[in-house]
Amino acid sequence: MDLDTWIMSYEPSIRLGFFFGVFILIGLWEILAPRRRLSVPKALRWANNLGLVVLNTLILRLLFPAAAVGMAVFAADRGWGIFNYLEIPPGLAVLVSVIALDLMIYLQHVMVHAVPALWRLHRVHHADLDYDVTTGARFHPIEIILSMLIKFAGIAVLGPPVVAVVIFEVMLNATAMFNHGNLHLPRTVDRFLRWFLVTPDMHRVHHSVEDDEANSNFGFSLPWWDRLFGTYRDQPRGGHEGMTIGIHGFRDPKRVDRLPGMLALPFTGSVTGYAINRRQWGKPGQDGNEPDMHDPKEL
Ligand SMILES: [Zn+2]
Ligand SMILES: [Zn+2]
Repeated sequence: MDLDTWIMSYEPSIRLGFFFGVFILIGLWEILAPRRRLSVPKALRWANNLGLVVLNTLILRLLFPAAAVGMAVFAADRGWGIFNYLEIPPGLAVLVSVIALDLMIYLQHVMVHAVPALWRLHRVHHADLDYDVTTGARFHPIEIILSMLIKFAGIAVLGPPVVAVVIFEVMLNATAMFNHGNLHLPRTVDRFLRWFLVTPDMHRVHHSVEDDEANSNFGFSLPWWDRLFGTYRDQPRGGHEGMTIGIHGFRDPKRVDRLPGMLALPFTGSVTGYAINRRQWGKPGQDGNEPDMHDPKEL
């Protein structure tokens, strides 16, 4: 059995193993050193957020049983993509592929904030009223399917080594759980880690209700893209304990933190203007912002 076939057959267990391992680790860390007090009962949020994760996993297995790794094998077999054309040392090809795939995820994240119809889907991730390890895996099924299709396209163009795709998938999964963790890291550790990793304090800014803060820090694993493309923001105005997590107008826990409400969320309320244009801090409802939180129609 060659390496690619071996990776293909063990990839689901590798990913699942890392998921549970990292999940338990961050979950315990959150209990030992929490950053913020949670506002919604944890059992309720976890049951619903993890319910969505199970649903998404089932849908993905059903639609794309071979997943992203299968696409990499498919591309390699047909000689598709840049790395299947160029003669590059394998180690370098893996490194560049992982970094390039991370850039693709950054650009995709900016896009789902910029395009109103996609922001509707992505709101499910942002509408969580608290911020912890389960937030990191909470996405609407349609956004999950869209992400997979974009990943397929990226892999077809890039032609990354199969092992690079496995490393990327495991890394993205692990860093998403870490940087959504309700974790208190000493400031010096946070500062040091931010040179090469998105930290919980860095990504928490992105979950602020304030539009300009939510349109910052789009990176999931590598923090460099935000600095390079000018979307980096150091800290939230209100401080990490004082800031409000979520979206204006979507503040009812019965809707935003329950599974049926999350599934219906993209189809409710209005989205005016381009989400990405909301880089200025102003009163909600102005300049194409979402309607004010007191507007009952919005819910
Ligand atoms: Zn986002
Ligand atoms: Zn997030």
